[in-house]
Amino acid sequence: MSRDRDPIRVALLGCGVVGSQVLRLLREQADELAARVGAPLELAGIAVRRPQRHPEVPAELLTTDAAELVGRPDVDVVVELMGGIEPARDLLLDALKGGRSVVSANKALLAEEGEALATAARDSGADLYYEASVAGAIPLLRPIQQSLAGDRIRRVAGIVNGTTNFILSAMESTGAGYADALEEAGRLGYAEADPTADVDGYDAASKAAILASLAFHTRVTAADVYREGIRDVTATDIASARALGCTVKLLAICEQVGGSSGDAVSARVYPAMIPKTHQLASVSGAFNAVFVEADAAGPLMFYGQGAGGPQTASAVLGDLVAAARNKVIGGRGPRDSAYAHLPIQPIGEVRTRYHINLDVHARAGVLAAVASVFAEQGVSIATVKQEGGDVAERSSTLRGGREADADDAGHGGDAGTDATLVVVTHEAADAALRATVEALSGLESVRGVASVLRVEGLGRPVHALGGAQ
Ligand code: NAP
Repeated sequence: MSRDRDPIRVALLGCGVVGSQVLRLLREQADELAARVGAPLELAGIAVRRPQRHPEVPAELLTTDAAELVGRPDVDVVVELMGGIEPARDLLLDALKGGRSVVSANKALLAEEGEALATAARDSGADLYYEASVAGAIPLLRPIQQSLAGDRIRRVAGIVNGTTNFILSAMESTGAGYADALEEAGRLGYAEADPTADVDGYDAASKAAILASLAFHTRVTAADVYREGIRDVTATDIASARALGCTVKLLAICEQVGGSSGDAVSARVYPAMIPKTHQLASVSGAFNAVFVEADAAGPLMFYGQGAGGPQTASAVLGDLVAAARNKVIGGRGPRDSAYAHLPIQPIGEVRTRYHINLDVHARAGVLAAVASVFAEQGVSIATVKQEGGDVAERSSTLRGGREADADDAGHGGDAGTDATLVVVTHEAADAALRATVEALSGLESVRGVASVLRVEGLGRPVHALGGAQ
């Protein structure tokens, strides 16, 4: 029956890692896709930069003129798998304005130009789908946007970048430093020649912007997302995390927070220690996992492969089938709702716990001096340990900021010996922690602040909830 209908004509922009797999699946599954759509999917053309590199593609389909392809009157759906902001932005805006539906995996573009694209789609009645832009194969955006449309999402937090997760997992399992683990990731094809977008957190920040926008019905761009990458995570940080029963992950965290001036959105990307008992801690290698917490649904986990040609193509094909089906039945899918207009919570107001490694001169009074700095900034210490000598757990004994004597890090005041103090705080505002670190750096007895890592509890782990069914 579907073969009797006019085909849905598809323009494919890009035929690289993902595009070539979309092409393969379109060919291999042509009959099934036609049955699901209600009409055959037919390629109108494939735009690339260097046609000579694509001998697998019939020459008559290839073009280097993406704008001409997008503008052809018989194109129904444009699938953009080129990446980058331009020319993708102009091409997709033109496509949408011309009433063509768009499927894209381009997280950078969606995070930066999501509003303009959504407006163009709304104005022309076209569909704009981008499931593959976050967490590759994992169905995540549609569940947030559609399945949870009747619920109130409070938090979306997870591991959305496979490259950094591979590097941190390698550091954890082998004890390697960052540089060695990055080299290994590059050798195995998990890191690009220029790994900046991944290791500095830009890729995760784009995904966080998309997730926060959909989860909280507001507009969040990549520039709104606070971002720290993993370059400064050391083997010592990983070992310290292990000693605390934690592991280090690059997290993307999006939360709707209440404040004195009303609700706001916190969107942030940074490496953090999380308890080994949390589901996200066991997500290793290039896998992704996202933990969604909604009022009525409770916690939900989404887990799977966050990248790769076939995996990402699966999500692209899902979007393509949805967009094509809408063309066949003459309707359109649900669109982005961005009615909430929530402000962004400044990072200085975000509250979390911190793990701080301090290199100190081991001498009498060091602990007292350090503790009083924390107390002055209103940052409460949960535990402090001295490493490199006797390791004494001093849970909460320092909270008053005055409990120190010659027994503390100094062991009788031997000023020639160095020691490391490992401090874990209770929840504190980021701004207070920054002020604390700055003041600590100025202490005569502190040789340096070796590292500061956040410790995230990430709400209630799924297995801890139990209770009534
Ligand atoms: P890729 O392998 O670099 O492929 C890009 C393709 O786009 C190539 O075929 C290239 O042509 C073509 N292209 C680039 N600029 C063009 C231009 N100006 N005009 C015409 N063609 C152009 O990229 P990819 O890994 O497939 O990624 C594509 C998109 O999917 C990106 O937005 C990426 O963020 C997203 N994504 C990728 C993955 C993944 O695992 N790779 C996962 C999730 C999302 P040539 O072949 O001639 O150079």
